[in-house]
Amino acid sequence: MTWLARPARWHADDVNGPEIHISFAPALGLFVAAPRRSGRSAVVTDGASTLGHVVESLGVPLTEAGRLLVDGRPVTPAHIPAAGEHVEVLGIERPQLVPGAPLRFLLDVHLGTLARRLRLLGVDAAYESEDIGDPALATWSAKERRVMLSRDRGLLRRRELWAGAYVYSDRPDDQLRDVLERFAPPLAPWTRCTACNGPLADADKDAVRGHLEQGTQRTYDVFAQCTECGRVYWRGAHHARLEAIVEDALREFGGAAA
Ligand SMILES: [Zn+2]
Repeated sequence: MTWLARPARWHADDVNGPEIHISFAPALGLFVAAPRRSGRSAVVTDGASTLGHVVESLGVPLTEAGRLLVDGRPVTPAHIPAAGEHVEVLGIERPQLVPGAPLRFLLDVHLGTLARRLRLLGVDAAYESEDIGDPALATWSAKERRVMLSRDRGLLRRRELWAGAYVYSDRPDDQLRDVLERFAPPLAPWTRCTACNGPLADADKDAVRGHLEQGTQRTYDVFAQCTECGRVYWRGAHHARLEAIVEDALREFGGAAA
């Protein structure tokens, strides 16, 4: 008798197991090969891998997969597909509820502008401008229960992540709208340091005088200071661009926070 070793992990090129049919929600089209973007397509699995692994192997990060249906019935990613099953992979429902509040984020090294804009709106957004590597980011996400935001699918596949989300655009304006729409975080503008993510506290003008230039001292009276890095903030005309970002966000996404 001959024993055939079963591969430990399923790969798209293996053609030695049950055939299933799979379809993806239109929102997931950017992750999968062109022939799988519309309607059902056939996949041959190894009969042992989970549906979650099969979906990931076809290019979709599980962070972006919503409900998984087999012949119309919901299953978990641990489901092992059997021959003839029809699998539907739906998109994430928005707003997406993340268990284990408070909702907070961790952004990878490429998302510095998005991090500063989230902080401007008072959303807890950890970010390190140095590239500390995927394992360290994943560990950080798990330790502080932060939703990992990234455009790196490899990072989003790491099992250690507390939670993760793919950032769909490379433009900061669209990235911000994407995150606010998807997670609907409560907004509290001007309460967080855009430089370090620390909370701001009201500051007395005399107490922060040493941080200010002469013109600033004469012109502005509203001050806040970061409780972690000591940076001083004031509102002035040069903040018009930031004011616009805040006003736009509050107009579109501020309702839930009020
Ligand atoms: Zn700070």
